[in-house]
Amino acid sequence: MEKVEQLIKEIDPKKRVFLLGVGGGKTIDIAKLASQRIKSSFISVPTAASHDGIVSSRASITKNSISASIEAEPPVAVVADTMIISQAPHKLLASGCGDIISKCTAVRDWELAHRLKNAKFSEYASHLSMMTAKILMNSAQSIKPGNTESARMVVKALVASGVAMSIAGSSQPASGSEHKFNHALNTIAPKPALHGEQCGVGSIMMMYLHGGNWQKIRQSLETIGAPVNAEELGIEPEYIIKALVAAHTIRPERYTILGTGLTKEAAIKLARITQVID
Ligand SMILES: [Zn+2]
Repeated sequence: MEKVEQLIKEIDPKKRVFLLGVGGGKTIDIAKLASQRIKSSFISVPTAASHDGIVSSRASITKNSISASIEAEPPVAVVADTMIISQAPHKLLASGCGDIISKCTAVRDWELAHRLKNAKFSEYASHLSMMTAKILMNSAQSIKPGNTESARMVVKALVASGVAMSIAGSSQPASGSEHKFNHALNTIAPKPALHGEQCGVGSIMMMYLHGGNWQKIRQSLETIGAPVNAEELGIEPEYIIKALVAAHTIRPERYTILGTGLTKEAAIKLARITQVID
């Protein structure tokens, strides 16, 4: 947040036309929020494809060591050089894949919220989001390190996810219980992993709760080289359990399969069955 405020001060209001956010997620989020505050537009120029924040309207900003997802404007354009993106560490691309694959559970949660709580729903946005996740899972084998075609595939999927959010007018097609788990981990774990990495692992567990094919999510993430358990996330099992128990308290107005929350015993069982912890 300090960076956003600093940036706003440095901009000459007479000179500006639009802001460019060039870099990783943080840089883009700073440009995104600053441009919204000064009522200017911004262009997203990602150098890595690690999450759909490169195309979405939401900015993940930390203030007083609390991270929050703030509503801003989506970019007017995205300039993604797949050559540059393919040169970024594979971990970042794999994280982007985790974020996309996690839409499988986000869409299920959205459908559930629609049926149980009459949440506003878009058939078109939900199909687009789900299809994007499915295409990527079915092409998991072709996501390779240092490959421009892989970078292109992931960027296109992230853009599709951003379009789905724009159609829906909310992040619901892209963010459900697995994202709540991710946010809970960010506040609970001393050293959280990457956004997409945590969402991917969250999605494995949430799909189990939905009674769906969680094994397929796990397999796809494994093939791509994204983490599938606590150890690979570099997070102690106790924080995984705490985050599972607390996840429903994040954005409580957004109904998901977590409902009124998991008991500690249920959380341990869930993490064990899905092999997230031993
Ligand atoms: Zn996400």
